[in-house]
Amino acid sequence: MSREFAESLIATIPDYPTPGVVFKDLTPVFSETAALEWVLSECARHFGESGITRIAGIEARGFILGAALAGHMNVGFVPIRKAGKLPRATHSVDYALEYGTDTLEIHQDALHRNDVVLLVDDVLATGGTATAAASLIERCDARVAGLAVLLDLTFLGGHDRFAQAYPHTEVFTVFA
Ligand code: AMP
Repeated sequence: MSREFAESLIATIPDYPTPGVVFKDLTPVFSETAALEWVLSECARHFGESGITRIAGIEARGFILGAALAGHMNVGFVPIRKAGKLPRATHSVDYALEYGTDTLEIHQDALHRNDVVLLVDDVLATGGTATAAASLIERCDARVAGLAVLLDLTFLGGHDRFAQAYPHTEVFTVFA
């Protein structure tokens, strides 16, 4: 499996879900056995020496990569979800979208003080989602060791925004 083949599976959909947005659909990468295996190996290789104890995936597409990677790296998986989806006591953070705000939550007991967490999502765009998710990990007194994404839409500035908020957290883009 080559990077080029895995990358060629990414589907680009103009004007979805709203006019002007160029949507990157990673599901064809997940559905191809060898491509998924290659993606998981790249992430595991990059963070193999980081002492990761748990992976936190961001709803919803971060669940797919995050849960698969947790199995691959033999660590536990923790979901970071939209408001009202988690049944027990949560930490909650509001963050700005282009129009309006959104909320992310994590179970208060999902992480432990000594956890070293790898945050996972499919696409880094403006960085608002990843930055908010990282703040939830810190609210649990755990450490955000890294952020792994498949794609970074660099022209939207998310990488810089995240790096400014979390300068000691490594950002790894699989299809850089
Ligand atoms: P942001 O908070 O702007 O960095 O947006 C990141 C979140 O929105 C991720 O969970 C992505 O799944 C999703 N997202 C944003 N822009 C796109 C895009 N162009 N294609 C696919 N997903 C996107």
